[in-house]
Amino acid sequence: MDFLSYDIVIVGSGIAGLRAAIEASRANRKLRIAVITKVQAMRSHSVSAEGGTAAALYPEKGDSVESHVYDTVKGSDFLADQDAVERLCSMMPTEVYQLEHWGMPWSRNEDGRLAQRPFGGYSFPRAVFASDKVGFFEMQTLYDTALKYANIEFLQEWFVTSIVYDDSRFQGLTAIEMKSGDFYAIKAKAGIIATGGPGRLYSFATYGHSSTAEGLAMVYRAGIPLKDMEFVQFHPTGLVPSGILITEGARGDGGVLINKDGERFMARYAPEKKDLAARDVVSRAIMDEINQGRGVKSEGLEHVYIDLRHLGAEKIKERLSTIREIAIKFNNIDPVNTLIPVRPVCHYFMGGIDTNIDGATKLSGLWAAGECACVSVNGANRMGANSTAECLVWGKITGSEAAKYAAKSSGEISKQAVEQEQKRIHDGIFHGKGGENPYEIKKEMQRIMDRYVYVYRDGEGLSQALKLIRGLKKRAYRHVDDRSSEYNTNFTNVLELDANLEVSEAVVAGALARTESRGAHARVDYPKRDDAKWLKHTLAYYSSDGPKLDYTAVVITKYKPAERKY
Ligand SMILES: Cc1cc2nc3c(=O)[nH]c(=O)nc-3n(C[C@H](O)[C@H](O)[C@H](O)COP(=O)(O)OP(=O)(O)OC[C@H]3O[C@@H](n4cnc5c(N)ncnc54)[C@H](O)[C@@H]3O)c2cc1C
Repeated sequence: MDFLSYDIVIVGSGIAGLRAAIEASRANRKLRIAVITKVQAMRSHSVSAEGGTAAALYPEKGDSVESHVYDTVKGSDFLADQDAVERLCSMMPTEVYQLEHWGMPWSRNEDGRLAQRPFGGYSFPRAVFASDKVGFFEMQTLYDTALKYANIEFLQEWFVTSIVYDDSRFQGLTAIEMKSGDFYAIKAKAGIIATGGPGRLYSFATYGHSSTAEGLAMVYRAGIPLKDMEFVQFHPTGLVPSGILITEGARGDGGVLINKDGERFMARYAPEKKDLAARDVVSRAIMDEINQGRGVKSEGLEHVYIDLRHLGAEKIKERLSTIREIAIKFNNIDPVNTLIPVRPVCHYFMGGIDTNIDGATKLSGLWAAGECACVSVNGANRMGANSTAECLVWGKITGSEAAKYAAKSSGEISKQAVEQEQKRIHDGIFHGKGGENPYEIKKEMQRIMDRYVYVYRDGEGLSQALKLIRGLKKRAYRHVDDRSSEYNTNFTNVLELDANLEVSEAVVAGALARTESRGAHARVDYPKRDDAKWLKHTLAYYSSDGPKLDYTAVVITKYKPAERKY
């Protein structure tokens, strides 16, 4: 076993991880900071964000931080912590200009000022963007900036397996260097988990295949609760059949949803906002159209269409070039003159690692930021363009907090804990026994999630899902066929599956227990929101018999829960 030592380790090089590294480095140039990522840094999932980043930039034109706060709280179906939302929205304008100063090529209006496009559920065009490649340009800007700081080191293609801790504090990590297969203990005074969302619990998903649950599972196993995992966002417009995202920017720029009769059906569900209602509302409307026979079936999937034809070739090529390219490459259709087939697709996890408003977990010295964290600003339904925003804001906050903490701490790592983890990985998994194909188990898990834990859920389906996931956990194959050391993706895929099964169980258990409909959690057997019983966050604690659920209060500052109308 090899040992490394840093002041701060950041797991994840997406927008949250990179922003955290830059802030920690700016706070204290003497700290040694490692950013660890299982892929090449620029291949982190954030690179695929398309439509925009939310910030109230133009008070003189009528926008305000307060309006951003209210739209976010309403969008969350009043489950977001309002103090955290206030922090997000008030810090965002500065983050937009900070990125601009680091070189971000934001799209502009004719007057040269930053352009903003409408996004679902907002009262003002609030998504600042860079064509439809906002994630790519934000990642490029942050990565280039991070490279300028000599005290940030990148460990790319390193797979983190666990955190190491004692009763009172975080001590470091264990990881496999993928190019050699060597196992490392990495001592650190402070850690930030920024491992993104576990999107690949589902098969029909907008996420890359590397978006899996290890970050969540490693803190869950360490006794830190996962919060609100039952709230999974299904974006209304996943391209059929691949699931690739057709950005909300397409509707922001004027695209409309139509059913098999060519009807613009959203007016029936959201008379005012229509196609630009909040995502949960639009996804349910699409499923209602499909369930009532007004969908179209192709390639085994029922869907509706998004129509961009009236926008004209010039606008589509300038502002929606990525989705045009995707439609041409994957479906052989050009949105300039053809309808795009779409249906709701797994796109975002509102839940995640339980943190306080500073992104701190219950374990001293450990923070979480970005999609893997639940601060909570997204509550039961995230607003589009708020995730990249959250990554920037809590990247900055956690980077700064971790730097302060690391400067006054000393580091120790328990050799015994590291050896135990090596045994779990090496003897338990690499040389484990079992006769089942992990790829079949993974497919089965995704089929269960796609079928029973989708836009609409019910008690019977969720109970069945829980039983099936538990069955899979027992059968799960903890044995690696490929014995090679270098780039053994069979090994890392089995580790990913292990984490995915653990976390999918927490998602299903939380959904089964929550007998109400709120935001993205729509129970057909409990169709109404129930504030008297359920205006609270779910906390799932790890136990070897499955998650133990507890609940905690929602922070309400100004806005009393009200009926949502769009
Ligand atoms: C297609 C798509 C489009 C989107 N568009 C928008 C948009 O326009 N606006 C918006 O606000 N949001 C958008 N979102 C959401 C947003 O992009 C994500 O929520 C956000 O980028 C997540 O960033 P992150 O930094 O939290 O994690 P990620 O970018 O997912 O990065 C996770 C990092 O963790 C690392 N990691 C994970 N596990 C391990 C491990 N075991 N060991 C080592 N490293 C590990 C990965 O290698 C990676 O570096 C979109 C999402 C999708 C799927």
